[in-house]
Amino acid sequence: MKFNVLTLFPGVISCFLKEGVISKAIERSLIDINIIDIRSFSSDKHKKVDDYPFGGGDGMVMMPDPLFRAIESIEDRGRVIYVSPRGTKLNQNKVKELSGVGTITIICGRYEGIDQRVIDKFVDEELSIGDYILTGGEIPAAVIIDSVSRYIGGVLGSTDSLKEESFDDTGLVEYDHYTRPSNYRGSRVPDVLLSGDHKRIKEWRLKNRLKNTILHRLDIIIRLIEAGKLDKDYLKLLQELRKELNDERY
Ligand code: SAM
Repeated sequence: MKFNVLTLFPGVISCFLKEGVISKAIERSLIDINIIDIRSFSSDKHKKVDDYPFGGGDGMVMMPDPLFRAIESIEDRGRVIYVSPRGTKLNQNKVKELSGVGTITIICGRYEGIDQRVIDKFVDEELSIGDYILTGGEIPAAVIIDSVSRYIGGVLGSTDSLKEESFDDTGLVEYDHYTRPSNYRGSRVPDVLLSGDHKRIKEWRLKNRLKNTILHRLDIIIRLIEAGKLDKDYLKLLQELRKELNDERY
């Protein structure tokens, strides 16, 4: 999988690539990241890349010319994404879809953003990482690279890590995790997890995921109900949960 990243701050991207799973994936040539410094495409003698917005207003806008030249310098652009707060919100389905694309080019904005003509000419899709404003598109680009790379074969030790995760096929968030010791300062791990009974552990984990989704992300439960995705088995578990939660209360 190849990522081209166009940025005014190459150092922000390159420092993220030096650590953990992503650095190993690069070392093993499972992913390839090509950082393009937009400023080096400025034809201005002071390497200017931004200018005042037509129509007035605060802030600066990234000029079209350096961006046009930078984008045109890339031979294989694949899917071109502009990261932007107004874009479609990134979610796990989009991440999975992008992992099948082959090559992704990400344009990182700064200041008030980029000239619209760049978007009209080159951008296939605008993506947001959430309803808040960052100072630049480098962190959103890192978020896309990180989340998409996890789906590239060999990047994670085992593809099992992608199963039973938040937002997997069930749509639920994840279950609670515990590790040694089984009793820490008097707080005990649920007995079922120490039982070695895989069927019961599986049931407990699914029920725990439902409980966590209700507690943390009721919006997901509502969406699953609306989409008719809470089947008979889930409804049975929900009834059991309701009983357990009631018993806990009294
Ligand atoms: N004027 C823009 C607006 O009101 O939407 C905000 C510009 S922001 C200060 C500068 C750049 O950061 C944007 O061009 C974009 O590339 C990036 N950015 C900021 N927040 C983002 C978000 N939530 N998702 C994706 N990109 C974001």
